[in-house]
Amino acid sequence: MQHDEAPLHSMNSSHMILKNTTGMSVPVPHPTHVPLLGPSNTLTVCQFCQASVKTSVKYSVTSRTHMAAALWSIVCCLCCVPYCIDSAKNSDHYCPNCARYMGSYEK
Ligand SMILES: [Zn+2]
Repeated sequence: MQHDEAPLHSMNSSHMILKNTTGMSVPVPHPTHVPLLGPSNTLTVCQFCQASVKTSVKYSVTSRTHMAAALWSIVCCLCCVPYCIDSAKNSDHYCPNCARYMGSYEK
């Protein structure tokens, strides 16, 4: 029986990424199991705090938004229009209870 891996109690603390810079949100790895999330606020159970919550959604601009902007600028010079359309953006869901990132709805 071999134990090549380091035992759990000797976890290297320097391996942990400590980012406490103000302003910027720390990138969170995607959860292992993502709940079924829609384009808008979705009722679900938070996988972190186990609370039944309605997710708070933040829309992020995707590359598709920029593509749409380019298309719009060619078609009718209204390059700012797609930035106002939520359907061209991803929906990032956050838990209102523990404020953790829960997953994204991607178009
Ligand atoms: Zn939560």
